[in-house]
Amino acid sequence: MNKIETTSEDETLSVGKEFSATLKKNKTNRSLILFLQGDLGAGKTTFTKGIMLGLEYDGLVKSPTYNLVEIHETQELKIYHFDLYRIKDPYELEEIGIREYLEEVNSVCIFEWPENAESLLPKPDFDVNIEHHKNDEPNSRLIAIK
Ligand code: ADP
Ligand code: MG
Repeated sequence: MNKIETTSEDETLSVGKEFSATLKKNKTNRSLILFLQGDLGAGKTTFTKGIMLGLEYDGLVKSPTYNLVEIHETQELKIYHFDLYRIKDPYELEEIGIREYLEEVNSVCIFEWPENAESLLPKPDFDVNIEHHKNDEPNSRLIAIK
């Protein structure tokens, strides 16, 4: 486990950017699975934006809250960025073809709020937990990477 404290949005972007190197290194015959956990506003989407910076993606990275998944294609990897905050039934993931996403080579499935569909998701390859850290410092976060 790796724990990093950040004190700004930019620093969390940098941590995500560095983490993208780990994703590039781990080649599998299926999608890599990354769980991003933490409260609303913790920085899960920010961390994802950092990953996309590291993969030199120059498109817009917005929260996929309304679509369940946003797809970003880069040179090296296809990134499927899920936000399960509003999911009511894990079956919604079956309906959008989650199995195919999970089986795709050279891809990464990133899940915000994976706890909302735990029954349907495999164990993650990486688990990133972001917490509001110091009470008196609104921009302080603790990022734990497993
Ligand atoms: P989540 O996806 O977890 O709901 P977001 O990444 O969308 O969270 O939002 C995080 C918010 O917190 C942003 O408005 C960002 O500017 C702010 N913020 C302040 N400090 C930090 C930090 N250290 N790391 C990440 N975000 C931070
Ligand atoms: Mg988010």
